Amino acid sequence: MPIFTRADGRIDLKSLSLPEIEAALTGLGGERFRALQVYKWLWQRGVRSFDEMTNVAKVVRAKLEEHYYISFLEVVAVQKSIDGTHKFLWQTEDGHKIESVLIPDDERNTLCVSTQVGCAMACTFCLTGDLGLRRHLRPSEIANQPLQVREKLDATYRITNVVMMGMGEPLHNIDNLIPALEIYLGEQALNFSHRKVTVSTVGLVPQMQRLADALPVNLAVSLNATTEEQRRQVMPITRKYPMEELLAACRTLPLKATKRITFEYVMMAGFNDSMADAQRLAKLMRGIKSKVNLIPYNENPDRDIKRPPDAVVKAFQHHLVTHGIQASVRVTRGRDISAACGQLGKADPTKSTVEEEKIAAIRIRREGEGYDASRFAFDDIV
Ligand code: SAH
Repeated sequence: MPIFTRADGRIDLKSLSLPEIEAALTGLGGERFRALQVYKWLWQRGVRSFDEMTNVAKVVRAKLEEHYYISFLEVVAVQKSIDGTHKFLWQTEDGHKIESVLIPDDERNTLCVSTQVGCAMACTFCLTGDLGLRRHLRPSEIANQPLQVREKLDATYRITNVVMMGMGEPLHNIDNLIPALEIYLGEQALNFSHRKVTVSTVGLVPQMQRLADALPVNLAVSLNATTEEQRRQVMPITRKYPMEELLAACRTLPLKATKRITFEYVMMAGFNDSMADAQRLAKLMRGIKSKVNLIPYNENPDRDIKRPPDAVVKAFQHHLVTHGIQASVRVTRGRDISAACGQLGKADPTKSTVEEEKIAAIRIRREGEGYDASRFAFDDIV
């Protein structure tokens, strides 16, 4: 794993894989078999100090302490939406703000995880893109998000699914993503089933192949358009990986028999929501084991883009379904706390979160959406 050393010379113990911890422990005079216990202390018990590792000899703990530290994200705020969605605002060791969103549903609780601070992909409709790429997140920062959400919320909110759909382009950060996913899937670590973990991408073709070769997680591709020209207008990455190349890769990706690729399709009024688009999309999906997830655009004050009327979304979905394509519509969640798709990273780091959210509340009220700011359940459970 990419090893991370802090300014004081100590290494983030969470940046070591299990075999690396074994080597480190024996190097410090500890017993090799204790490594698994240390690993479980880190990723299952979530300890914050070496002293808590009670089954590790005191001298070894002291030596660990000398050379290593246990990394954590600092919790800046936890906000709860009127629909039950929780947004976690974290701060990294070097002062960057990142977000995770927990979305409770009837039978599942999905955690949406960030993989970068900002994003370099510059999709025109997405607010995270406005930040540009500040930096990649380290494996421990990607894996600390579910670990620390588990710590904060009770069993009602047990995380059942994880989607890499927060800030950032996961496959742009694949060198850190793969070790992070090994922690997610590791039985001795976070222990998520590969069936419950989804990586979403703008379509970085070689990295899609590399991910599929490395791990069996689910793949989602943000397609968002039905012609090359149209996709180029909103997703600059299309210039590097044309749609034809992307879809060809999707056809040949070595998927497990039971898997399908999810195609996310953000619907923008008057841009990609016509029946001609629906027809083209149905054709593009031919020969791909796919399902389509339609995402009506989340409107915001920073863009002129409008969400199509529900009837348009329904008709679009109907066309796909009647042409044999599995298609669902994503329900917008957490909008009142700026936690919905494409809204992450709006946080202005010069303002406190409280101020921010007040401003957001006023803005939403001005937009006449009928939200009453006093109903904002601002649960600061830090
Ligand atoms: N970079 C990856 C992971 C982010 S996923 C990817 O693009 O797949 C975030 C999803 O939200 C993407 O499918 C994106 O197209 C969508 N999105 C961005 N802005 C949105 C908005 N304002 N409304 C609805 N969906 C949006």
